[in-house]
Amino acid sequence: MSVSQVINPATEEVLADVEQFDEAGVDDAVARAKVAQRHWAKLAPAQRAAALRAFAATVDAHVDELAALEVANSGHPIGQAEGEAGHVRDVLQFYSASPERLSGKQIPVAGGLDVTFNEPLGVVGVITPWNFPMTIAAWGFAPALAAGNAVVLKPAEWTPLTTMRLGELAVESGLPADLFQVLPGKGSVVGERFVSHPDIRKVVFTGSTEVGTRVMAGAAAQIKRVTLELGGKSANIVFDDCDLEKAAATAPYGVFDNAGQDCCSRSRILVQRSVYDRFMELLEPAVKGVVVGHPNVRATEMGPLVSRPHWESVSAYVPEGAPVAFRGSAPSGPGFWFPPTVLTPQRTDRTVTEEIFGPVVTVLPFDDEADAIALANDTPYGLSGSLWTDNVSRAIRVSRAVEAGNLSVNSHSSVRYNTPFGGFKQSGLGRELGPDAPLSFTETKNVFFAVEEL
Ligand code: NAD
Repeated sequence: MSVSQVINPATEEVLADVEQFDEAGVDDAVARAKVAQRHWAKLAPAQRAAALRAFAATVDAHVDELAALEVANSGHPIGQAEGEAGHVRDVLQFYSASPERLSGKQIPVAGGLDVTFNEPLGVVGVITPWNFPMTIAAWGFAPALAAGNAVVLKPAEWTPLTTMRLGELAVESGLPADLFQVLPGKGSVVGERFVSHPDIRKVVFTGSTEVGTRVMAGAAAQIKRVTLELGGKSANIVFDDCDLEKAAATAPYGVFDNAGQDCCSRSRILVQRSVYDRFMELLEPAVKGVVVGHPNVRATEMGPLVSRPHWESVSAYVPEGAPVAFRGSAPSGPGFWFPPTVLTPQRTDRTVTEEIFGPVVTVLPFDDEADAIALANDTPYGLSGSLWTDNVSRAIRVSRAVEAGNLSVNSHSSVRYNTPFGGFKQSGLGRELGPDAPLSFTETKNVFFAVEEL
């Protein structure tokens, strides 16, 4: 096995050396997962529910430890990291109700009894990105386990530590050995083996649209099921009839959360021309007020970028002479720091069309509702977005017209474990979270029992 170094993005210190799985290691893990899954699926639903509740309780008892690990590995501010660990517990708790509720249907037919069963798929492979390592892992493994599957999970190379710890906590909580295995390694090795392995029946992939396209193409060879959660370039549409102070005060948090390394980041602010100047006056102090600092400090609202290569990729979008309206602050010294940055480019600029995945937002004026909708939809992505208006009819019209999976009116909320999440267009395929997620880890089997007439 080869070894990969994990770096603390706020200090640039080496945190750990992580052994990388190779193809043979994946094959061995999948063989063991296959055996574990058969036993798991045979357990009484109440037993599987209890096991998931025990896993949730174990995560709950380790929230502080998991949060500290995420601060160190990903540079997430401590308060947010605690929220993420708590979210993993909540997702497990929510889906622990599912084993006893996957009830299928009884369908009235002539000549007998017809029922459907929600059969587990078998072994599910989950591939996660580096931006929200714990939460995105849980969106895959919790409903998959609840539906009776085994899970092998490949975390991102830069941020494997919390997911590896979750794998240990699963075993400590009493979950059967081999049922949920975390396999750190390269995308080109472990990730690709998940796609090609015939005993992995579904791949849940969260990451870039570029790699997601390859995963989907590879999965086609075996008609393998996929859920894809991919990139985004979401719009925050500010109409002239909204609470402009609130829209401006909250806009930085809609895009700079997690240093903009958020697939739901509202990275294009679209402002009605009649209030554009006033909005920019209000936005400037809000952006400068974002507290950027060491993630261990409780007051910190935004930490560093995840790595040096990512810092370089984000920096390339703000070269000398870029149309910078204003910027917030960032610490100097070691760490991959990047200040919140507001750009006012042309509509066709690549900062408007490409996912930057950093704390860089573009602000563009629009003329009327039709122009706002056209601009919002002028992207291959369709993940998220916000709109600000006090006109209920407009809120309904625009939220129906914007091609995105998760919209919020007069707020920037998008992910709740109990509501569905996913993208339109090239932002993805399928939905995670919400009450129906376990169904996407099952096959529907229809069985007809002929009944003899007396
Ligand atoms: P990435 O596509 O580079 O990597 C994602 C994962 O795929 C990693 O674990 C990587 O090792 C693995 N991988 C790489 N090559 C692979 C291959 N050939 N086969 C299989 N797996 C492979 O993405 P990233 O840079 O880690 O994450 C950032 C991207 O993720 C952004 O585009 C962001 O929008 C997206 N994202 C989407 C969501 C969502 O829910 N829609 C959530 C978070 C992040």
